[in-house]
Amino acid sequence: MSKHKSIPTATRKKLYEKYNHRCAYCGCELEYKDMQIDHVESVYRNNDITQTMSEKEMYDESNLLPACRQCNFYKSTFTIEQFRQRLKDVMMPNLQKDFRYRLAVKYGLIEETNKSIIFYYETLNKKQRY
Ligand SMILES: [Zn+2]
Repeated sequence: MSKHKSIPTATRKKLYEKYNHRCAYCGCELEYKDMQIDHVESVYRNNDITQTMSEKEMYDESNLLPACRQCNFYKSTFTIEQFRQRLKDVMMPNLQKDFRYRLAVKYGLIEETNKSIIFYYETLNKKQRY
């Protein structure tokens, strides 16, 4: 259960449309009912409890992105760059510890790449720049 106040329906719908019914991070398609709203910067900036954000900043549309359950969960209160780094430096090594993961790689069921992580919303920003 979230301690935060809820985000108005109008804002939720606007975000849903703005990001093409997709998770702003991984880009998967989202049903409206499954959309979660991530606070890009959490109440504690960079997890520093001395740097709190005001509620106004926290709920400003520029600080909100639609997210799927998994991205929202894994991003948690991390910043965008911390999240990006965690996907590579924490999630992957943890997966690679699992012998089933390594076996799946051997059988070609999982193909590892070294590509950099670009979030879906970042690809939109590029297209929209004119
Ligand atoms: Zn996602």
